[in-house]
Amino acid sequence: MLPVPQISAFNPPRRILMGPGPSDVYPDVLAAQARPTIGHLDPLFVNMMDELKQLIQYAFQTKNEMTLAVSAPGSAGMETCFVNLVEPGEKVIVCRNGVFGERMRQNVERVGGVAVVVDNEWGEPVCPQKVAQALTDNPDAKFLAFVHAETSTGALSDAKALCALAQSHDCLTIVDAVTSLGGVELRVDDWGIDAIYSGSQKCLSCVPGLSPVSFSDKAVEKLKNRQTPVQSWFLDQTLVMGYWGNANGGKRSYHHTAPVNALYALHESLRLLANEGLENAWARHKNMHLLLREGLTKLGLTFVVDEASRLPQLNAVYIPQGADDAAIRSQLLQQYNLEIGAGLGALAGKAWRIGLMGFGARRENVALCLKALEDVLS
Ligand code: PLP
Repeated sequence: MLPVPQISAFNPPRRILMGPGPSDVYPDVLAAQARPTIGHLDPLFVNMMDELKQLIQYAFQTKNEMTLAVSAPGSAGMETCFVNLVEPGEKVIVCRNGVFGERMRQNVERVGGVAVVVDNEWGEPVCPQKVAQALTDNPDAKFLAFVHAETSTGALSDAKALCALAQSHDCLTIVDAVTSLGGVELRVDDWGIDAIYSGSQKCLSCVPGLSPVSFSDKAVEKLKNRQTPVQSWFLDQTLVMGYWGNANGGKRSYHHTAPVNALYALHESLRLLANEGLENAWARHKNMHLLLREGLTKLGLTFVVDEASRLPQLNAVYIPQGADDAAIRSQLLQQYNLEIGAGLGALAGKAWRIGLMGFGARRENVALCLKALEDVLS
């Protein structure tokens, strides 16, 4: 026998999470997660899943039947889209203006697709003219894939314009909305998005580990007409829908054990979003960004992204000359219990990423962050 480990219960402090995610979780969401676990096929739970589907449809602004929460984080939502839709040899135009566009490219290649990359500088949005050119140069492309809100830089791309371009070239769209959902305008049906995924831990202020996804009827048609089986058993949506869907005359069958309590949390966070109203939530994120921007500018900090395409929920600012990146973030954590994000990829060591996501997008957080930064930078 191994010796019995002498380990105490883990009691994390209450941090103020103002990085790129996870964001501060709503207290009501944490409470929802602590409710009694029931069976994932219990009629009461199944009823809650129906409500959850409606709430995800509202958040995405879609009537798509195939709308659900993948039982894994945003990366699994990304894989769900690529592994179900892209078949070996198919061409995908992938827009890359940060870390997550590059991950999309890797997903395309791992499923045997051919990625045609449209590059933009880090900090810039995806350029519709470049995409139009790539679509013209590649008439055999089947998909256009892009990140709506690039968390690595804080750039917002024009999803509506990009989807319109894709439609005019008969391409399906795959859109990353991990950071955009709930924080900025997003209209899946109006903009004609075909496959979209998000994450629970950003502007939904839910616990991490779930990924809302939705497929349009055209995407479902593409999936049903595949020549080859979906390589992933776990993420195969035709199987998952046996549990999430109502296809079997309302009967649901076991696919995998759903993360029951995490789904309670998502239900509660989306209920809070619906009660606030999507447009109010978008406006709140914008207003808190304006407040933060005013204070950061007074401190002499400059933004990575131009005002026109700046995400309100992810504020990337250059680290001032002479400031010690790691030491300052550590001081914020130790003295103020405040987490801000480090730079990622090309911006590592050059920028900080200050998140105003979901429950975190409120006045007291902005005030605390500005006060703390002023103290540590002086
Ligand atoms: N896409 C974007 C834009 C993200 O910001 C993230 C995470 O930060 C992901 C995908 C991956 O999500 P997760 O870390 O939940 O797997």
